[in-house]
Amino acid sequence: MKYNYLIVGAGFAGAVCAQKLAESGRSVLLIDIRPHIGGNAYDKYDEHGVLIHPYGPHIFHTNSKRIFEYLSLFTDWRFYEHRVLAVLNGETYPIPINRTTINKLYGLDLTEEGVENYLENIRIKKNTIKTSEDVVLNSVGADLCEKFFRSYTKKQWGLDLSELSAGVASRIPTRTNDDDRYFSDTFQFMPSQGYTKMFERMLANKNITVKLSSSLEDAKKTVRWEKMIYTGPIDAYFNYCFGKLPYRSLRFEHLHLPDTQCFQVTGTINYPNEQQFTRITEFKHLTKQQHTGSSIVREYPQEEGDPYYPVPRKKNETLFKRYQALTEQEKNVVFVGRLAQYRYYNMDQVVAAALACAEKIIND
Ligand code: FAD
Ligand code: UDP
Repeated sequence: MKYNYLIVGAGFAGAVCAQKLAESGRSVLLIDIRPHIGGNAYDKYDEHGVLIHPYGPHIFHTNSKRIFEYLSLFTDWRFYEHRVLAVLNGETYPIPINRTTINKLYGLDLTEEGVENYLENIRIKKNTIKTSEDVVLNSVGADLCEKFFRSYTKKQWGLDLSELSAGVASRIPTRTNDDDRYFSDTFQFMPSQGYTKMFERMLANKNITVKLSSSLEDAKKTVRWEKMIYTGPIDAYFNYCFGKLPYRSLRFEHLHLPDTQCFQVTGTINYPNEQQFTRITEFKHLTKQQHTGSSIVREYPQEEGDPYYPVPRKKNETLFKRYQALTEQEKNVVFVGRLAQYRYYNMDQVVAAALACAEKIIND
């Protein structure tokens, strides 16, 4: 059989494209080299029966009603607002930096206006914001930068704040009020039965065939298709002809703690300066699962391994652009997703990119 579409990668990018194309009557073969669907958003019950995110904590948040409504076709939701604390010399402080962070750290009792004035005095004003260092210094000044951002960033990326594009640190706002939510988006929810169940429903269409533990190389030998959607790393597609495009990897250390109702007070605790890992997440906070034990994950950033993060900096963008130029010659292939577009996308942004890609195909 010849499929209308081969889709490489069963993460958000691939699954959304598969769902839309199948719905429009096209036959789709969706493959993934991993033994499961969901890409990095895949979740599963560990051997102790706790729902975990094997590839690190995934919290859904978006300002787009359209994206939220689209995904709501495949899942119910449970309201969840993520909260994060950072450990500094044994004390915990809200992240993003807010009024509580400043008052607790410096032994102050500032009002909201007081914090505004305080930050105005300590910030190091930058006329042009190019790097993540500019972002942080411009918003909170040198001391808070060293305490909460410099070392965390070095650990996470293997690079200094000054070597990363502004977009990395801009993900974290600065607040002068007591809002201690990690995200401030309009829609903040977790899929009630988990991400994998949501993906299963997206892919439950007779026009979709899913083949797991199967690479593009395998498919080239055994199947035929008219057009392809590729959601893997763009440099791999082109055999690294211009050299490797850097992607940051992580080692996840998963641990189960029997007879532990609650290991930490909130979903994620960041360790900006101490420890080799960046953060610990306790899944029961995210999923609200009832269980006598608890499961946690520690994230250790590393250079080698599965590609998890594109590394946003000028020279990588330049290299990406060279690969992107090659995609022009691939008339029957569309490149979409965090790895193929080399964009530090959140899940909702990948869904938006994939919907746009599928709709263009359908409407052309
Ligand atoms: P992926 O999920 O990476 O899927 C690509 C798939 O392609 C993979 O399954 C891969 O195995 C497959 N593949 C690659 N090459 C081949 C090949 N040659 N043959 C076959 N298959 C191939 N976003 C949020 O919105 N909220 C969060 O809280 C959040 N937390 C995150 C935490 C971590 C630790 C990480 C790494 C990411 C997080 N994200 C979060 C981002 C989110 O994971 C991504 O935006 C989203 O999952 C990307 O989807 P994708 O389909 O583009 O890529
Ligand atoms: N960051 C930091 N300290 C923190 C939290 C974040 O320095 O306590 C910086 C760091 O560079 C990180 C970036 O802000 O990579 C974005 O953080 P986010 O939590 O969005 O990263 P992700 O969840 O994507 O790993």
